[in-house]
Amino acid sequence: MKKVYCIGELLIDFVAKKQGNDLSKATDFTKKAGGAPANVAAAIAKLNGNSYFVGCVGKDPFGTFLLNTLDQGNVNTSLAQRSTTFTTLAFVSLAADGERDFVFSRGADRELSYNSQLKEHFKNQIIHFGAATSFLGGQLEKTYSNYLQDAILNNTFICFDPNFRTDLWKGDEITFVEKCLPFIEKAHLAKFSLEEALLISGKQDPAEACTFLHNLGVGIITITLGKEGTLLSTPTNQKTIPSISVKSVDTTGAGDAFIGCLLQQISKTDNPTEHQQLSFSQLEEMVMLANKAGAITTTNYGAIESLPDQNLLEKL
Ligand code: ATP
Repeated sequence: MKKVYCIGELLIDFVAKKQGNDLSKATDFTKKAGGAPANVAAAIAKLNGNSYFVGCVGKDPFGTFLLNTLDQGNVNTSLAQRSTTFTTLAFVSLAADGERDFVFSRGADRELSYNSQLKEHFKNQIIHFGAATSFLGGQLEKTYSNYLQDAILNNTFICFDPNFRTDLWKGDEITFVEKCLPFIEKAHLAKFSLEEALLISGKQDPAEACTFLHNLGVGIITITLGKEGTLLSTPTNQKTIPSISVKSVDTTGAGDAFIGCLLQQISKTDNPTEHQQLSFSQLEEMVMLANKAGAITTTNYGAIESLPDQNLLEKL
């Protein structure tokens, strides 16, 4: 089984206890571990995959809580870093429909420094770039570029999720898109929401967006469509794979569970960078399972707490 290195942020999500309010009205908050790349690492480990988290938290009680949470979930945190800067904090509130409203206070995640020895670790393995805060400057952004170069040179399967956040890029979407392009050009697999696929491609239609993104270089594209499932696209084939029907209460982390489950399956293939050898129907099967993982995650509150294990996935 290949190792999956998930690079980026790990932060505290303070989640409003009472549903149905945006942040301007929310009062009481619960402390949860969050951060898209960390959620993906947790999803992979929960499915008995071999995941590493590579990111930076503060040398404060929040940082300790976060690393403990990942350790307890069997994510390997030996490559995580700690800094004297406070741990990054996000505040999240769920509106009545389960969609989230969030603001965040950026701290230690930006300080992830480059470790040139990791290129040896990456050789023939899998790397997941779950962008989110990584294009907002700081050392993390430079480290991201360095690890992308290392991955390109070491036959590493590259997965990219832009994790666009409107609140963070309002008015400067073009910069966000420009920063995504080098990753999309080199990705063997990329996961987009519909909004991200249309924003980055500048197209009006998902099929056209896929053509554009494949032409940039990405091999396998998944466009997650919430309860409608996922559009799976390769340069020669395209299909929407339906999800299962669930009673959804909180969509936080569904996309991370989805891509985590997909990566866990890819980590079991012999030579992931030769993914063209996988048939479209094999990819369909994988996406079908990943859809289930995403769906199950929405049936409970929180991202990491709601992740399914192998038993639960197989039961459905
Ligand atoms: P995030 O914003 O957390 O990164 P996302 O917008 O990329 O998430 P979603 O589309 O919400 O991800 O969900 C990922 C996958 O999970 C979907 O493609 C779908 O298969 C499944 N899923 C999500 N919500 C539901 C739902 N309400 N019912 C069934 N399946 C769902």
